[in-house]
Amino acid sequence: MFDNTSFDTIQARMNKFYITTAIPYVNAKPHVGHALEFVQADVIKRFHQSLGDETLLLSGADENSLKNVQAAQTEGITTQQLVDKNSKLFEALAKKLNIQFDIFQRGSSIEHHSSSQKLWELCFKNGDIYKKTYTGLYCVGCELFYEKNELNEKGECFEHPGKPLEEVSEENYFFKLSKYQNQIQKLIDKDELKIYPDFRKNEVLGLLKEGLQDISISRSNKRAKNWGVEVPNDKTQKMYVWFDALNIYQSGVGFDSNQKQYKKWWPADLHVIGKGIIRFHAVYWPAFLLSAKLPLPKAVFVHGYFTVDGQKMSKSLGNVADPLDFVEKYGADSLRYYLLSQISPFQDGDFSEKKLVEVYNSDLANGLGNLVSRVAKLCENANFRQTPSENNHHLIGIYDEYKRLLEEYRFNEALNLIWEKIAKVDKYINEEKPWELLKTPAGNLKRPINSILEHAVDQIEEIALLLEPFLPETSKKIKEQFTKTEIKSTNPLFPRIP
Ligand SMILES: [Zn+2]
Repeated sequence: MFDNTSFDTIQARMNKFYITTAIPYVNAKPHVGHALEFVQADVIKRFHQSLGDETLLLSGADENSLKNVQAAQTEGITTQQLVDKNSKLFEALAKKLNIQFDIFQRGSSIEHHSSSQKLWELCFKNGDIYKKTYTGLYCVGCELFYEKNELNEKGECFEHPGKPLEEVSEENYFFKLSKYQNQIQKLIDKDELKIYPDFRKNEVLGLLKEGLQDISISRSNKRAKNWGVEVPNDKTQKMYVWFDALNIYQSGVGFDSNQKQYKKWWPADLHVIGKGIIRFHAVYWPAFLLSAKLPLPKAVFVHGYFTVDGQKMSKSLGNVADPLDFVEKYGADSLRYYLLSQISPFQDGDFSEKKLVEVYNSDLANGLGNLVSRVAKLCENANFRQTPSENNHHLIGIYDEYKRLLEEYRFNEALNLIWEKIAKVDKYINEEKPWELLKTPAGNLKRPINSILEHAVDQIEEIALLLEPFLPETSKKIKEQFTKTEIKSTNPLFPRIP
């Protein structure tokens, strides 16, 4: 257990920590990739709570995208109906995974619209928005114009092969992105805008070295299908979707609607995103904020993508993995554990149900679950009574290492540390053989069984504490079982899957 003094010191620091997930498009129901990002962000939040920080976790729905308009047309409903329906699915997924979103900010809300117009006006006032006729190739999937040299040999974008780009020519508003190139380069280079991991930081610096071009930040109502945030003082244009989508991070904490709340939480301490949208978060977003003379986020954590059973997830392949299926079948903590321990936080990975079941049986049923029920059973058989003691409180040996790993978002390595501890306690029990002591007359005991069980119970309480950010439900169950005076065995935490 943590000793009381150091825990008080931790409590006293009371920093605020504001984390965001990326804001998903809601043109379809969430897939298992969304679950990964939500879970990662939730671990970070819970970890900061354990440090005594005041935390805020925001997610939301990018509802102003053309993809939503197209999806609604396909389903024969209005765009508003589509985003209402699908946004709920993302919130529901988070709940099922025990993820505590404090704010879920929707792009179609009135306050978000006016907040984004405010951001636009600030950039405009500083002379960074101008009008120009533009001809370019647009990928609706990415919501992005591409240069010819950024496309594959067939002239398609790399994220959406097989989908021809639209050639668009119209008068739009442009943002002077080029003006901020040097400033952003310096900020990233000096880690004032810190990018995790390092190789992603280098990727962005490489992108910046190539030079930045000004970007179109609006489109005609016609092309926008009359959907999205209206450009201030120009009823003929809607904002480019990324301009408003990024601002969800601000509008959700009251930018232009609740100054007190905004002052308290902004800037974000961490944006959690996938590798495909790094340019928007590490280049466009800081540029918009610099232009508007607003504080910049402090850090961006970039995770990879994963395939499902070795193949890219796609609707046409029919292999889009629905995280709710896995929650139903194996429980929220099992999916959380799999995503956090088996998918690298930084590199691309592969998701497979077969592997999930393997890991469930080896690590959760055999490793953690077995230790917990073994010790509980021993306590029960030995009539062990826990004495509330103040002397056995000491800082956990691995805690510093655990904390360092979590501060660098190395979730899988932090979990490894916990599982090493589980193995150590298992070994300790195997060596001390308390079940044999149960048969020995009390006078002949080389070591009282109580002290062995006390140690094991103490270790399990520590394990429960370390597990909390990762497996909150399991951690709670273990704590409830092991903080009682009389420890009883219960149903297995993770029944073996045949
Ligand atoms: Zn694309």
